[in-house]
Amino acid sequence: MDQDLLLSETCSNCGFPLTDCVCDLLNKSTQAALNVIVEKRRYRKNYTIVSGFDKDMDVKTITKTLKTKLACGGTFKNNKIEIQGAHKEKTIKILKEMGYKAN
Ligand SMILES: [Zn+2]
Repeated sequence: MDQDLLLSETCSNCGFPLTDCVCDLLNKSTQAALNVIVEKRRYRKNYTIVSGFDKDMDVKTITKTLKTKLACGGTFKNNKIEIQGAHKEKTIKILKEMGYKAN
């Protein structure tokens, strides 16, 4: 009885029963996590560096969003986003809000 009930509820996305839904797993395996670090440079200036982008990521939008939300200058070069200042936690939060994995 219980089993019938569970089987009747399937995930609309992957088609598996909700108890066996593999969507999370699929998302995790296809999306690389972005790496966020704070780097200290000359004159004791801090930079927040985001790396680990792959080709399908919209880097322009990510850079723009980070700059806007952090209200800081930033550039994209050598496949990395450099934001002025130390904003590791905030940057991770913003990236996650945008649907990216970051740590
Ligand atoms: Zn699913």
